[in-house]
Amino acid sequence: MSIRRPVVAGNWKMFETVAEARVLMSEMLPGLSAIRGVEIVICPPFTSILPVAALLEGTGIAVGAQNMHWEASGAFTGEIAPPMLAEFCQYVILGHSERRAYFGETDVNVNRKVKAALSYGLVPIMCVGETLDENEGGITRQVVSRQVQDGLDGIDSAAIPSIVIAYEPVWAIGTGRAATADGANLVVSDIIRLELSERFGEANAQAVRVLYGGSVKASNAAEFFQQPDIDGALVGGASLKATEFVPIVKAAADR
Ligand code: PEP
Repeated sequence: MSIRRPVVAGNWKMFETVAEARVLMSEMLPGLSAIRGVEIVICPPFTSILPVAALLEGTGIAVGAQNMHWEASGAFTGEIAPPMLAEFCQYVILGHSERRAYFGETDVNVNRKVKAALSYGLVPIMCVGETLDENEGGITRQVVSRQVQDGLDGIDSAAIPSIVIAYEPVWAIGTGRAATADGANLVVSDIIRLELSERFGEANAQAVRVLYGGSVKASNAAEFFQQPDIDGALVGGASLKATEFVPIVKAAADR
């Protein structure tokens, strides 16, 4: 068993008004509060961060954002700055494939955001993963290595263990077609940890928590958590249902 503490993060995407978020949290909290040994992170949309953070106070469950700007402040209409998030959040998802695909997120900007998150004490959950075309074209290694390399460019080795990476093959996100557990583990060990080891040393590569994301649900979560190099999950759709998310977190605790 790995000594890395598992992390399960729920990415609510653009779902849940404040009123709906309160209901969802009231359904999940009794189950989640009883689970030990897993870092649980709830990532609501910006408008629900504050109320969710208030509901989670004292529970040990963390709050995360789904994106942020890299500058501390400025004339960037519609953006949210790291110190604004740091008032309420402990984590921030960066470089999610939906941001890369629909909002022009680049590795260069992901890198700026990872550095900004670290400097404000936020744990970045940096997402990487290949598209279906890239997968079928046999260039998964090239794509994922580049995302890891460029996303972490110029970061001090000492900061590497505090970064969380989510391997999310784009073809598995929201499709109901998860990767196989051993296939995902192979990408994590032979591409992501290898890249980390070459750049930041083997000890740092082994210290980083790497999550799998892509159609994780209560019925398949345990398979991923049994893999030696997978340290938890980034969960989208199933994080919006207490009957799915609570058993997923429980599976991480039981691994
Ligand atoms: C995600 O949004 O990061 C994700 C993995 O979504 P889903 O679990 O719905 O595939």
